[in-house]
Amino acid sequence: MKAPRRIEIPSFPKNKRVAVTTSFDDGHTHDRRIVGAFNEWGLKGTFNLNSGLLRREGTPSPDGARSYLDASEVADLYRGHEVAIHTATHPHLPRLDASQIALEVLEDRKALEDLVGYPVRGMAYPYGTYDQRTIDLLRSLGIVYCRTCENAEPCFPPKDPLAWPATAHQYAAGPSVPERFQHLYDNSRRGGVFFIWGHGFEFHDRNDWEALERIYRPLSGKPDVWYCTNIELCDYEDARKRLVIAANRRTAFNPSGLAITILVDGVVMEVPPGATRSLISSENT
Ligand SMILES: [Zn+2]
Repeated sequence: MKAPRRIEIPSFPKNKRVAVTTSFDDGHTHDRRIVGAFNEWGLKGTFNLNSGLLRREGTPSPDGARSYLDASEVADLYRGHEVAIHTATHPHLPRLDASQIALEVLEDRKALEDLVGYPVRGMAYPYGTYDQRTIDLLRSLGIVYCRTCENAEPCFPPKDPLAWPATAHQYAAGPSVPERFQHLYDNSRRGGVFFIWGHGFEFHDRNDWEALERIYRPLSGKPDVWYCTNIELCDYEDARKRLVIAANRRTAFNPSGLAITILVDGVVMEVPPGATRSLISSENT
């Protein structure tokens, strides 16, 4: 049997064209409303929390303008989404010495891991402030990515995942989020990442909770869009880059823990985690 002529590794699982990911900072009680809507619409969120500011009463926090969630709510509320760090107490990191930065990051990481029960590896910079010294330190602390308050198109893959710009803030000036999404969705033959971030209190402070539906619902429900958390996007990118295609194009080896989608002469196939798969059509089952 002949080897295939071309094997491509598309950007996203199942050969989806576009990835939509979001992130929300600070962990206020407003997140309940966001998560509720996202669960209904099939959207995924990454929620960046300051563990040192969470309440520790053991009962759900009352709603309020800047009311932090209670630690006891975190695991259940964010199930199916990603919990990421935002430092323990929300300082400007470039104003701190290295040991304080390390403590802000590791204390938050450890406290959030105690709550959610999985390794927490993602982050967003408090106030969006960072410098090269902070980036180098975060990398050595096992932080995989860190979202900034900057915007870029395309926003992924970022030059440095520890200085990751989003596509836009949810209330960005200029074209609205749904308009920006439609533009990417209509024009993206090769695929692209659409990454929106914000805070729940923005809806509350503007008395504009309708914006949750207005901004986010148009992004939902597309069969050719991958709805993913920030870390799922980074992990998939990392795993697809590690896929090994034999020089004779007859086999592929996937050393990662994620199934990777490939296009073999235009036909969608999957290489299971840890497996070597034949790419000769008669040998595939
Ligand atoms: Zn913040």
